Amino acid sequence: MRALHSEEPGFTFDATPLLEVDDLRTEAAAGSAGETEALRGVSFSMSNGETLGIVGEPDSGASEVIAVIAGLRPAWDGRVRIDGISVAGLDRHDMRDHRARIGVVVGNPLDPVDMIPPAMTVAQAVAEPLRIHRMYTRRECQDRAEETLAHVGLGPGYARARSADLTPVERVRVALARAVVLQPRLLLLDAPVDRLPALGRKQVLTLLVRLRWELALTCLVSAAHPASVTEVSDRVMVMYAGRTVEVADRATLLDSPAHPYTLDLLSSVPLPDPARESRRSRPVTRPEAAPAVSEGDTPCAYLATCPRAQPRCASEAPALSDRGLGHPVACHYPETLARVPSPLGEA
Ligand code: SF4
Repeated sequence: MRALHSEEPGFTFDATPLLEVDDLRTEAAAGSAGETEALRGVSFSMSNGETLGIVGEPDSGASEVIAVIAGLRPAWDGRVRIDGISVAGLDRHDMRDHRARIGVVVGNPLDPVDMIPPAMTVAQAVAEPLRIHRMYTRRECQDRAEETLAHVGLGPGYARARSADLTPVERVRVALARAVVLQPRLLLLDAPVDRLPALGRKQVLTLLVRLRWELALTCLVSAAHPASVTEVSDRVMVMYAGRTVEVADRATLLDSPAHPYTLDLLSSVPLPDPARESRRSRPVTRPEAAPAVSEGDTPCAYLATCPRAQPRCASEAPALSDRGLGHPVACHYPETLARVPSPLGEA
């Protein structure tokens, strides 16, 4: 399968950090999908033009990271800097400018009232950020909304439609148009394709790659499973229980996953080739019983599930440490020889 992550001619990617996240911590919060896992000290940075996938199940903290950076949820500790400017130090006026530099796609595309305002027409919904930031006249807002809709593959016939008239993929297209209409530098997407069928997922990811290239975007995109984002990501960060457990470039994560949770996630997706699927080793065998935790211990959060758990894992939480070549893993006994066939084919 051809990788969708952009190596297209003309694509620019430089090492200057656009986003820096340092030791982000939040309280656990109740949400529609149950309790959201608190963030327990998450740090990473993103270069200009990079796409980083954040992968983890709904209570992993992946969505929480995006919500905090987008300003939708407060952090009780840690720092977020964009272009070297700390978001926490901004006054109201500067915060408005800051928000214009970030595009956000959140919500469930299967729900007609969740992702885009249900009372607005599509054209009004896309023009809304322009009106809020008072950057254009009414006529210019309208023209720019139509141009942006065309950019995401929705013709003039969609302008008067409302969310309930659209398919889930069309709702994601409208949400993307709303997110990029102010020409942001950073695009944050919370699980934009997790609930879509395979064809819809492919359409949205292809659009995302095109927008990233044409608009010189830096993208942070979350998903419950690596298969939903590895195609478009330069790097992937795997989260579990509010912590980062592994970070690797796309090919390394697919070919040499090192954390038992990453192996578990990757092996949960059947391979398209049945012969290859039947030959594949299953790395995860549940332990009879996890090592006992004593009072005062700080066990690894994956202890109860991990097939590789040892007594040390019950007393000492592993730190995220780099195994070399930019592949940090938080595990005392990482997989070193595993070669799990990728569900996406060759990287
Ligand atoms: S530290 Fe131990 S329990 Fe945690 S993931 Fe690694 S092997 Fe498993």
